[in-house]
Amino acid sequence: MLNAENWYEVIEHKEYLYVIRERLDELDPRFYTTYVNIYILLGDEKALLIDTGCGLFPLKPIVDKIIGTRKLLVFNSHFHFDHRGANDEFSEVYIHESEKNGASLPLDISYIKDSSKELVNEYSKKDFILQPSLIVNSLKEGDEFDLGGIKVKVFHTPGHSIGSISLLTDKGDLFTGDTAHYGAMYLPKKRQFSVILDSISKLLGFFDESNVQEIYPSHEEYPVGKELLEKLYEGITNIENIWDTKTKDRFLGAWIINDENFKYII
Ligand SMILES: [Zn+2]
Repeated sequence: MLNAENWYEVIEHKEYLYVIRERLDELDPRFYTTYVNIYILLGDEKALLIDTGCGLFPLKPIVDKIIGTRKLLVFNSHFHFDHRGANDEFSEVYIHESEKNGASLPLDISYIKDSSKELVNEYSKKDFILQPSLIVNSLKEGDEFDLGGIKVKVFHTPGHSIGSISLLTDKGDLFTGDTAHYGAMYLPKKRQFSVILDSISKLLGFFDESNVQEIYPSHEEYPVGKELLEKLYEGITNIENIWDTKTKDRFLGAWIINDENFKYII
């Protein structure tokens, strides 16, 4: 029987950085995504939870165990179901201002009714509705949060969604959400590729301007290096040249194109 204890994999990656992973492919392999990475940054006074995952099993008890007596801040990298699923367990969350309205409403996920039986059963207990947090606060470019010994800065990196954010700590950890990760990259329509390319350029710029050491994406492998951003930029730029290799995916209602590094979902 799956439960919160055996569903979430908890990893102490650094003394101030925990990773909580869940398996999106076990819920439904049709997303072409193996892992959701939820992160916790531990400052001296506050802790920051980056995303709340799919909301299949209670997340808060696991988070509470890790953060101890620290005050908790909860951010969503963006408003998609696999990043805000457990928002209702937390009284207050933060999300980019352009997605605040979306994240304040219940989210209907009935389109995954025919996914893994055992897991869908968990969603059926919620009538296939992911409830929002009571209080939804907005984030904007340049906002800074001091956790005590660690500072975190917010950057708007739209493209995957309109309000996608990335976070940079003063220790050189860059959290890219779904703006950049290996595996299946969900992109906007072709005419908006420039939006995500601009966001990737912005993130690449941090390697020159700041002391960025490692990238922590919200899906698949972590930490990864600057090459992720370089390969992704080049790959998206090249999609036009391999456009006739695309196939239609009926479940996602999207085009799929592969190159040697990524699966692009458009
Ligand atoms: Zn995602």
